[in-house]
Amino acid sequence: MSIAHHLAEVRQRIAQAAQSASRDPASVRLLAVSKTFPAGDVRAAFDAGQRAFGENYVQEGVTKIAALAELRGEIEWHFIGPLQSNKTKLVAEQFDWVHSIDRLKIAERLSAQRPEGAAALNVCVQVNVSGEASKSGVEPADAAALAHAIAALPGLRLRGLMAIPEPADTLDAQRAPHARLRGLMDALRADGLDLDTLSMGMSADLEAAVLEGATVVRIGTAIFGARDYTN
Ligand SMILES: *Cc1c(COP(=O)(O)O)cnc(C)c1O
Repeated sequence: MSIAHHLAEVRQRIAQAAQSASRDPASVRLLAVSKTFPAGDVRAAFDAGQRAFGENYVQEGVTKIAALAELRGEIEWHFIGPLQSNKTKLVAEQFDWVHSIDRLKIAERLSAQRPEGAAALNVCVQVNVSGEASKSGVEPADAAALAHAIAALPGLRLRGLMAIPEPADTLDAQRAPHARLRGLMDALRADGLDLDTLSMGMSADLEAAVLEGATVVRIGTAIFGARDYTN
């Protein structure tokens, strides 16, 4: 089945989940996660109306951005993977968003390396809402301090929080970590931070995330198919 068809199915899942939550479907943005897939697949999704794409690996991402340079003004590129400090410059120069910040040092580098004249880089703090099972993301207890420090950096615009909960089998079990992330975001907003983004929900737990208030869902497999990491 085609990428356009898969995209239509995913949009339908979002609309249905939004309806069950009495939310406006337009309040949930679809980020198409194109990691491991070629520029031609991004192009096919673009032709089917998709405008926001997520990449996990810096070199792969910048190669794809270059291959699709003629679409640069129309595509929003989101970096969503683990970020090493020696790779921040390319990300600061080429991407529009970074979802995966869990250390102040990375945020400081991105802020300093954001090119002059460019709009502030939109960022989210990645939070570990699944406890010991997961290694990436700041601990919930440390999220507020990190968020406040990032909000003060001139090259960045702190938009919200992101999480990758551990897989779970039932809808209720999937909802719990998403609810924790939403609770954290509510607390930060009550504390004066101007946040509008809850980046949560992947192919397997999209519905749970939308029910718990996701404003961005990051969907790869359900759009592009199963990933092959062998090359
Ligand atoms: C790969 C990835 C996704 C997409 O996952 P799927 O299960 O393929 O939808 C979303 N978010 C992050 C951070 C990822 O690394």
